[in-house]
This record gives sequence, C-alpha cells and structure tokens, in this order.
Amino acid sequence: MASSKSQSKQDTPPPVPEPLPVPVADSHTHLDMQGRTTEESLRLAASVNVTTLVQVGCDVRSSEWAVRQATAFPAIHATVALHPNEAPRLVLGDMDAWAGKDAHRAAGGAEALDAAIARIAELAERPEVVGIGETGLDYFRTGPEGVAAQQESFRRHIALAKEVGKTLVIHDRDAHEDVLRILAEEGAPERVVFHCYSGDAAMAKACADAGYYLSFAGPVTFKANDALREALRVTPLDRVLVETDAPFLTPVPYRGRPNAPYLIPYTVRSMGETLGVDLRELCAALDANTRHAFRLV
Ligand SMILES: [Zn+2]
Ligand SMILES: [Zn+2]
Repeated sequence: MASSKSQSKQDTPPPVPEPLPVPVADSHTHLDMQGRTTEESLRLAASVNVTTLVQVGCDVRSSEWAVRQATAFPAIHATVALHPNEAPRLVLGDMDAWAGKDAHRAAGGAEALDAAIARIAELAERPEVVGIGETGLDYFRTGPEGVAAQQESFRRHIALAKEVGKTLVIHDRDAHEDVLRILAEEGAPERVVFHCYSGDAAMAKACADAGYYLSFAGPVTFKANDALREALRVTPLDRVLVETDAPFLTPVPYRGRPNAPYLIPYTVRSMGETLGVDLRELCAALDANTRHAFRLV
C-alpha cells in the first residue's frame, strides 16, 4: 500500500513554479513523451515565461512529429535525427524495444540506417527545422555491439548538419572522448550544442573555446553534482543554454517526477545561484543564446 501511494506521488506532475521575470527558451524538450496536448504544454510553459521550445526528434517518426508541431505553432522549433540509441537498433534490431513503440523490430542492417538517414535528410531541408539532433554517442545504454552503428550514424549526422547549415545537437552519455574525437575528425559544423552537458570543467572550457554551446538540464540542480556546477561556472555566459530534456531529468525539488518545460524555472534559479548572476540577466542571456545557437528568428 505504501509503495502504491508513493508511486502515485511519483506520477503526479509538480506544481507550477513562480514565473521567470523575462522569457526563456527551453533548448531541448520532447513534448511527444509528456502526456499533454501541445496546446496544454505551450500554455503551461507560457504561464511561467517559457515562450520558445526546441522540440527534438529521436527517430524518423518523432522527427516528422517535431516538424509538424513547428509548422503549426510559432513557439516551437524542430530538430531532426536518429538518437544514438536508435541507430544501432535500426541496424541490429530492437530486442528490448528501447523506443517503446516498434517493439521487437527485426534487424534492418545498413540499409535500414541508410533509409532512415535519407528521410532525416529530407526533413532537414525544411525551414521549420533548426537543428540536426539529437545525435552523438551513448555508451551507457548501447553496448559494445552497437558502437559501430552509433559512430557511423553520428558521422553522417555531422555531415548532414554541415550540408544543410543547421545546428548540431549532441547527446553525449559516457562517451566524452569519442564524441570530441569524432567531431574533430569530421570537422564540426558552424554551430554545435552539447545537450544535457555532463562533462567536467576542463571539457567545458575546451568546448567553449571551440565555440560550442553547453546546455544544462535538471542534473545541474542535483545535490551530488558539484563537478557539473563547476563546469557551469567556467563556461562563458554567452555559451550557456538551459533545457528540460523533459519528461526526463526533473530538477530539484521534484526529482523523479514527470518533467515538462513549465518546470525550467527551478533549473534557471538554481543556475543563477551557482553563478551568482542576477536572475533577469541570466534569463535574458539564456534566451538570446538559444536564438543564436539555433539561428531562431
Ligand atoms: Zn539526449
Ligand atoms: Zn533529449
């Protein structure tokens, strides 16, 4: 009984926080996984001054969905890609149904990856699409058997970003060295965003020196993550973005409950304390940086 009670609390959306003083953009969200209509999500977000959202694609279907939302709603901008955990599953099959929808897909081989990237490339040309991502490497969820497909997919997304002149959105989980190496080998596009930045201060400095943007998510509010806050402190303010990556990574004090763009004020306020920067100034910087990072109009 106790467990079902705590379970239901875990499923309850956190309350709406005090609005931010000026508008802020959520630079990375997944509205398609949040159990609300897009209208509801936008209304909730706008009620706390979150007025711009970057809706991120993870596979062909969610990339198509992102483009449709960006077409229908001026507050939404789309990115399109195959997630680093999607690419190996296209090639090798999806026995654990990672994406949760195409359960037990059969192995499609290199042809399946080719076809999916061709469709992503088509979508990438659309004016509503502001970025190629999320792509990158994830050695936490994908085992050694998937690394080759993941790296191949990452390289092709880097090439696509350069070809269409759009921002590269990188997912890097437990793969810092290889992400930086492959980026250097391929040559980085003009604009690069490290989403849910998870490296240390030294890597943050190197990324900022290279002109990359670092997007901070809920983990920057977690008590144990002093190293991540140190990374935030050494990042020049004009390279810092904020994101929810919702429904994941809900900030303190609602860690573990469902995340959504309307909860970004908790992360922004925590970042303001870490940086010792005035909240209004921080919000203005985060919003302007997102516009520059994705060339939003
Ligand atoms: Zn990610
Ligand atoms: Zn994401």
